[in-house]
Amino acid sequence: MSYVSRTLQGLKQSFPAQTEFYQAVEEVLETLPPVLEANPRYEEQNILRRIIEPERQITFRVTWMDDDNRIQVNRGHRVQFNSALGPYKGGLRFHPTVNPSIIKFLGFEQIFKNALTGLAIGGGKGGSNFDPRGRSDMEIMRFCQSFMTELYRHVGPTTDVPAGDIGVGTREIAYLFGQYKRLTKRFEGVLTGKGLLWGGSAGREAATGHGCVYFAQHMLEDRGEQLEGQRCLVSGAGNVALHTVEKLYELNATPVTVSDSKGTLYHADGIDLPLVRSLKRQPNGSLAAYMEEHTEAEYTPVSDYPADGHAVWRYPAFAAFPSATQNELTRADAEALVENGCQCLAEGANMPCEAEAVHFLEDVGIAYGPGKAANAGGVAVSQLEMAQNARMQAWSEERVDEHLQRIMREIYLRASTTAEEFGVPGNLVVGGNIAGFRRVAEAMIDQGAV
Ligand code: GLU
Repeated sequence: MSYVSRTLQGLKQSFPAQTEFYQAVEEVLETLPPVLEANPRYEEQNILRRIIEPERQITFRVTWMDDDNRIQVNRGHRVQFNSALGPYKGGLRFHPTVNPSIIKFLGFEQIFKNALTGLAIGGGKGGSNFDPRGRSDMEIMRFCQSFMTELYRHVGPTTDVPAGDIGVGTREIAYLFGQYKRLTKRFEGVLTGKGLLWGGSAGREAATGHGCVYFAQHMLEDRGEQLEGQRCLVSGAGNVALHTVEKLYELNATPVTVSDSKGTLYHADGIDLPLVRSLKRQPNGSLAAYMEEHTEAEYTPVSDYPADGHAVWRYPAFAAFPSATQNELTRADAEALVENGCQCLAEGANMPCEAEAVHFLEDVGIAYGPGKAANAGGVAVSQLEMAQNARMQAWSEERVDEHLQRIMREIYLRASTTAEEFGVPGNLVVGGNIAGFRRVAEAMIDQGAV
């Protein structure tokens, strides 16, 4: 394709209709009528119209030199969605699919998730269509430095505190932090997910995955069930998925799957976690190589997935933990899960279930933990990192884990008691959304028409 056609095609792809954002808004708004009826002030104060409008959106050019000394161009985003409860808080995603719709859906969900933790954090999200896969360490560093060269003027420990998400881990946070410090001369908690030597919190990396399993335990406990001895499906093979696998093993459950963008791995004896970790550490590492060590395992490449969904959800199991990305679980997948005896689904990823899948799971009434509740452990421990930074302290891993367990329990209780209050016991979608929404709406009303 010519340089001109490639440029035109890229431009068209970068501003599609904001379908994911509309999906996330609809998912929240359709659960709110009961609370709007009970509180006419919310409509009088035009809360819905205000809450779907980001307070500020920043889009910027990120130019960087690749290893062949060519100038590369990506687009950077930061959506500062809502600061009613605290500084904007939410991760950065580096992935080729990133566009304004994806960042706005993530930022919108972050408002309610953060509110549901009970902590003082607003909602925001950012990222870039930069694809870190196959890039050298030095290319990643130059990209991160260029990204921060614009972002630094919009963030700060009491204004906006980014963190990681897909494609952004400790290495990227480190390069971003180094550049922030160089530009501002300030060593402060402007990012979370930092390295332990320079202001990071023990337990942050594991928090989303571990928290998601704690959340599943609470849902199951209320139903007189437990994870111990049960087979579990996990999708993804990133930070959230692998810490979910880790915690499931600690509880004597058996995680039998992981997946990545190329395929799905199934191992009936239980996933060999150290092996998956070492495969994923290699640049362009593929799960297919797992079969060389474990010939009895099963690998399904994406080309062999069912037409109406994902291979990972077609194995029988007691619980499912979608921990890869948005819309990775269709209605047909949800039906297959339930048909195969699945009793519990906890979302480690953000909006992994398509809307139709969510409605099906609600109708069937299995234990369903939406991401805004189930995966809030990550951002909650980010807030603990901010608190440690502000006090110039560093807590032990045990202390952080105690707090994480308490926060996950409180999130569960907040969502489930609110569900009961509104006459839909066990519906954590409705309960979680209303509980988070109420905190934000009340704070917005207190602060006037801003
Ligand atoms: N990206 C994570 C999330 O989706 C974490 C955000 C944070 O720690 O600020 O919640």
